[in-house]
Amino acid sequence: MSENARCRRRPWTPWRDHRSCFPAALAAAGQEAEEAAGRELAHGIGVFQRDTAPLVRAELARLAREGQRPAQLFLTCADSRLVTSMITASGPGDLFVVRNVGNLVPPPGEEHGDDSVAAAVEYAVKVLGVRSITVCGHSGCGAMQALLTAGTPGAATPLGRWLGHGLPSLARLADDRRTRPRLAGRAPADAVEELCLANVVQQLEHLRAHAPVARALAAEALELHGMYFHVGEAQAYLLGRTGTLFEDVREDGGAAEELHSPV
Ligand SMILES: [Zn+2]
Repeated sequence: MSENARCRRRPWTPWRDHRSCFPAALAAAGQEAEEAAGRELAHGIGVFQRDTAPLVRAELARLAREGQRPAQLFLTCADSRLVTSMITASGPGDLFVVRNVGNLVPPPGEEHGDDSVAAAVEYAVKVLGVRSITVCGHSGCGAMQALLTAGTPGAATPLGRWLGHGLPSLARLADDRRTRPRLAGRAPADAVEELCLANVVQQLEHLRAHAPVARALAAEALELHGMYFHVGEAQAYLLGRTGTLFEDVREDGGAAEELHSPV
């Protein structure tokens, strides 16, 4: 048995429409949906306390004593279908996670009053000393869909202003001089998929422009990775060294060589 096989973690069990057995189902029985949703969350927390907390308490106690030392920053969309610990088989203390609408990294100096991403990147690189940053996009991203349909989002609302940070990705896709990023072995499904992929590549460029990242890259103390998660197929893809081809990750961790071949 290989070392990899011995260490294999299996943190998830088969999973399907668990809401059908949660209190939300009671909404159909006359309860207000809002109240039922609140009870659903409370019920889930109770399940954690009963079933999961006993299994992780010792490890969390160790992390509480020793502090966090994650080696990776994982930046992805806020979409509820992306469960970062599930798609990376990671657990407490493994990933420093940044999530926002559209997995966007505003370039330095363009935060327009929102420094949260830059602050998290600075903290991860300078204080935590993470060794890698992964930008993960996903299929069916509503933010990318909105960018495609709205073109130039209105700046009248926080969401419109935030999506403005995705405009360089739109411009990248429209630039015929650039090779369009794509998934290995298949034609692009649609324009949204193409923009989701181009957006990952564009946000990696934005990351490189941040001073802490640039310094760590120059010192060879940091790697950047691009990732795409196809929700409907439960399939992860990693951006290869060409910077335009996302290769599917196999069950044996293949394409894992890409994890050692930063873009
Ligand atoms: Zn999304």
